[in-house]
Amino acid sequence: MSLLPVYRGWGQSVVCFVLATVASAVVSPAMGQSVMPPGERENPLAATGEALVAAEKPAVVSEEPSIVGCGKAEAARRWFRADPVEGFQGGVAEAMGETDVLHNDLTVEITNINTGANSCTLTGQNRMTIQSKSPSLTTITIRLRNQFTVTSALVNDTIPVSVATLTTTTRTVTLDRAYGMDEVFTLTIAYTGATVSAAFGSIEVRSHSVTAVVSTLSEPYYAYTWWPVKDGDVGVPGDNSDKATLDITVTAPYNFSVASNGLLQSVTPLSGNRNQYHWSSAYPIVTYLVSFAATNYNVWTKNYVHPGGTMPVEFFIYPENDTPSNRTAWELVTDMMAEFRPLFGEYPFINEKYGLYNFPFGGGMEHQTMTGQSGYSQSLTSHELAHQWWGDAVTCKTWSDIWLNEGFATYGECLWEEYKTGVDNQSAYFTAILSRKPSSVGDSVYIPAFATSDPYRIFNSNYSYRKGAWVLHMLRHVVGDATFFRILHEYRAAYEGSAATTDDFAASASATYGQDLTWFFDEWVYQIGAPAYRYGWDSVNVGGQEYLHVKIDQTQMVSYPNVFVMPVDIAVTVGAPPSETFTGWNDQRSQYFVWPVTAAPTVVQFDPNQWILRTTLTNSMLVVGDMNGDLAVNSTDFTTFTNCFTGAGGQLAGGCENADFDGDADIDCTDWVAFQTGWTAGGIPPEIAFCQAGQQIPTASEWGVLALSLLILSAGTIIHGRRQTIQA
Ligand SMILES: [Zn+2]
Repeated sequence: MSLLPVYRGWGQSVVCFVLATVASAVVSPAMGQSVMPPGERENPLAATGEALVAAEKPAVVSEEPSIVGCGKAEAARRWFRADPVEGFQGGVAEAMGETDVLHNDLTVEITNINTGANSCTLTGQNRMTIQSKSPSLTTITIRLRNQFTVTSALVNDTIPVSVATLTTTTRTVTLDRAYGMDEVFTLTIAYTGATVSAAFGSIEVRSHSVTAVVSTLSEPYYAYTWWPVKDGDVGVPGDNSDKATLDITVTAPYNFSVASNGLLQSVTPLSGNRNQYHWSSAYPIVTYLVSFAATNYNVWTKNYVHPGGTMPVEFFIYPENDTPSNRTAWELVTDMMAEFRPLFGEYPFINEKYGLYNFPFGGGMEHQTMTGQSGYSQSLTSHELAHQWWGDAVTCKTWSDIWLNEGFATYGECLWEEYKTGVDNQSAYFTAILSRKPSSVGDSVYIPAFATSDPYRIFNSNYSYRKGAWVLHMLRHVVGDATFFRILHEYRAAYEGSAATTDDFAASASATYGQDLTWFFDEWVYQIGAPAYRYGWDSVNVGGQEYLHVKIDQTQMVSYPNVFVMPVDIAVTVGAPPSETFTGWNDQRSQYFVWPVTAAPTVVQFDPNQWILRTTLTNSMLVVGDMNGDLAVNSTDFTTFTNCFTGAGGQLAGGCENADFDGDADIDCTDWVAFQTGWTAGGIPPEIAFCQAGQQIPTASEWGVLALSLLILSAGTIIHGRRQTIQA
């Protein structure tokens, strides 16, 4: 947190959306009698005081919100409003597509370490191995901030080439000749200059206790502030699919240790009280995950034992933080690795290492094989570890797809809670996911391309982290546990070492599931909002069989999707607990469900575990005579009934479900008898005594009599319901 001390004059208020309790909307019987005892049909969730999200209702000016996930959301909220993105001048056409960087060999020395100025001198070079993906490659765009001096530029170690400064972020290298398709050459850019940090702390020169620490955090597109590199341009969607293997060599004062990616190859003492650390990554690594940190770390190692052997986990901690409890907390990461192994597959960099190190950023950053963390909580450590699969091994291809990193890592926190005792603890899982419920749903999980110039939007806590995690939570409910984890395995297998888009993940998940899931990702990732639900229930006995009858309405605002298609759990208690759960496939804005039950239910709960992200949930009684589902009984209902009854053959059709009292998919006199059976006020009134089971109303005049009677009956009665189709 020391890096993020204050708000820096945003010029606008910070508004957050808070949870608000929404009272259940129980319809009280106006006249007549209730079938169930009072109180038992109220919204069961309201009784527990559960807070429901008030859709898009700005309520209070926030106080300091708590850090969620890896802390980038909170840091972005603070930082980027104060420091607008620099150098947003668009990309160069050849920058991403016409080259394939195979290897980066980066060598830097840090000198003139000045914590007061948050700057040091970086002197070094990057020797890039590049394959041409053009039939005639003559220029290469690289990123290197313009205060650095390029001291030399060589192709194949010997041929000088020219480098022109294009913008604050960008240089253009003119090659000595045209390089043909698939031709491989090296480009070495040597540079020196004083560092200027940006964003989350892309190159930080700070102090902890009384000692300096130099560290990097390039995400999303700030590698150019400390090394010459091929990267997407600032403020454009980017392309993280060109990964390369890495050698990184850092020379630092002799009293510093250097933490970095991959395996430590050597530590070489140099003249002038310096040490040179050489790390190497054989796994391809995306630009923004390349990092180092240097200070007077205390270092220790614990082995992660796995079916194939052991792998070192290395810890670099500030001496003042080196306590037994902090060591214990960090060492828990080997348990997390063992837990994630069956869920995600083996740790993706198993031939190298994992590591944790202190750095000044207030949160964590999932640098590949070596995560920076300022804290020790299980949620932070499990989040960053999950990123090694989701973000590092499989990387979001563009910043529009950031939820494939952050939503997955946030979901990883919940999986750690679920399985950390060694058995599946469903209760802990639901507690974890509910505590990560978004407090606002007014924007999409997917980041529109134009918004990727705003890291505050990219790392938005509600959408990229919380709602992103809920996308996985809901996907798990749609496809079931076994398929869900198979989806993760197969998605990893398809994109490990590379990068994926949302559509890539959707296609992979659909293939694994065996059914198209495009609709799911469309409504939950690309579109905005979440459903608001209203439900009502009753039970009816037809032919000796008791049926539970449930009506579900979606009432979300018109700017949200009209219908969120989802399986909805309905938990039914008949007599004493436990309850039985039915699942209805809810794909209409207003829909009825019927399930056979052993006796009249006493408690009916709507999605009690909250598998679905919803804004509000209200519970309403079904009202006899309410044939158009507006929860009121009036003459409009008789228009509905009349239209159904006098329709072709009286067959059940759209909107007529409410008039089919006995559930035979036909509107006829039998319905009237069924209605009477439930109505306890007495027998069939004499004015409709002609109406017998199965009898169709033959004439308009008789129909008029029936309609009049029904009006009298229904207006004063709250009683049994109707059915649509029996769902097993
Ligand atoms: Zn994260």
